[in-house]
Amino acid sequence: MKRLIFVFAWVFLTGAGQVYAQSNRSADAVVTIGPDESGNWLVEYSFAEPQQLLAFVQSGNDYRAATWTVSSGNANLARAAGLDVIVLDQPARKVAFSVIPLTSELQGEATPFMTFRDGAIAVHEGQFRLFPVTRSEILGDDGERLPDPDTAQLAMDTRISSDRNIIADGEVHQGTLTNRIEDGGTYIYIGKGEIRSFEHFDAVLDATFPAWIGERFMDSVLERIFAAHEARWGRALDKKPTVMFAYKGERAGGLSVKGGAADDMLMVSAGGARLNEPDSDTLAYLHWYFAHEAAHLFQSEGGVRFAGEGDAWIHEGAANMMAYTQIAATLNDEAGPRFLASVYGGAFEECVSALEGGPLASARERGVNSAHYACGDFVALATDGFLRRRDIYSFWNTLIERALDMESPRVDAGLYFNTLQLLGATEGQRSLIQAIVGDEAPENPRKALIAMLEAAKLAPQFNAEGQLISMDWPDYSAE
Ligand SMILES: [Zn+2]
Repeated sequence: MKRLIFVFAWVFLTGAGQVYAQSNRSADAVVTIGPDESGNWLVEYSFAEPQQLLAFVQSGNDYRAATWTVSSGNANLARAAGLDVIVLDQPARKVAFSVIPLTSELQGEATPFMTFRDGAIAVHEGQFRLFPVTRSEILGDDGERLPDPDTAQLAMDTRISSDRNIIADGEVHQGTLTNRIEDGGTYIYIGKGEIRSFEHFDAVLDATFPAWIGERFMDSVLERIFAAHEARWGRALDKKPTVMFAYKGERAGGLSVKGGAADDMLMVSAGGARLNEPDSDTLAYLHWYFAHEAAHLFQSEGGVRFAGEGDAWIHEGAANMMAYTQIAATLNDEAGPRFLASVYGGAFEECVSALEGGPLASARERGVNSAHYACGDFVALATDGFLRRRDIYSFWNTLIERALDMESPRVDAGLYFNTLQLLGATEGQRSLIQAIVGDEAPENPRKALIAMLEAAKLAPQFNAEGQLISMDWPDYSAE
């Protein structure tokens, strides 16, 4: 019953109305994309109204200068105010680019293009989103400020043609697809693959994967991951997710997994010799990876956006905690705690050493990418412990509900602490978390972390060398 109420409130609060209106709004722009003979992509915009100055919504990584060239001769691409900006010579309804498809991972943004070993390619349409800006907004003249890209972005359709299968939003299209970009945008797949339907998700799989990935991983491991999330979140995802899974072959050695959640799907690529056989370490790693990414799908339901880079501990930490406790729940009474002791023992040292170098907010700038996962994971555990009703999933459902009440729904630090207070965490408890994630690093990170964990009744135990060896883990096994 609870689930029904929630889903109902959901449709009411957000979402459906807004999305519906959005889909019915005629497009401000159509972006026609596709590969040319050289392997570059042609990206042609047509605007309903003449445009002069446009900025890319996804501008966090400065890569377009090296990969995008104006091919229509009527504009320049510039970098200003931290944004990639299209400067048209005069107001125009069209502008076109030749684009080298970038397949490298970007910080905080989806990988623009994902290639499959079987010849397929998936393109992330979010990279094409634009919002109009003025010169004075860019220059900050007279205190003018840039609009919020997410609300100011043009209503845009992606148009793509191919003689192969085009797959988007869980459907196969032939010929030409025109797709309205919703929220952050999804991946559009072009290739020979088909959709394989499973109970909790649909999958588009690289045809060259070792057989066990299709036969065993999808059926048992991935089904169990989504089922566990559904049970613990107390709801299914709004829309059945699609999992696109690309293979990189053995060339990577070991095991490498990249990609993540985009809109309402997972786009993941994996490679390395370790994938040849399903040994227990490989399975455990894939389990963690997919459980973590699937958590992001639940966290961002309804178009909720995450906090910026500096506050990534909020969503990364909780996704990690959910993934680890779910894996532990699949193990027996001895192996479960042993697994948790080993991952949290490592995370404890990572978090301490990250905070010894400075505050969490600037960890990524200092090159410590794991800090938000490690410290955030302990913050999620402490959050769970401070709640009147110890349930990190219902805490997140409340966070999402409250975010969706806002004009631009985002789960940030302000909302996090405010919701903690609402759900029973005292000022003293909140300040113990603030000590870890605040603008200033704690003087003694080890002490601060231990104080937070002890106050959250997690009873951390250490060996003679000071290594974390056990805690009173929250019990998410019986659902
Ligand atoms: Zn993540």
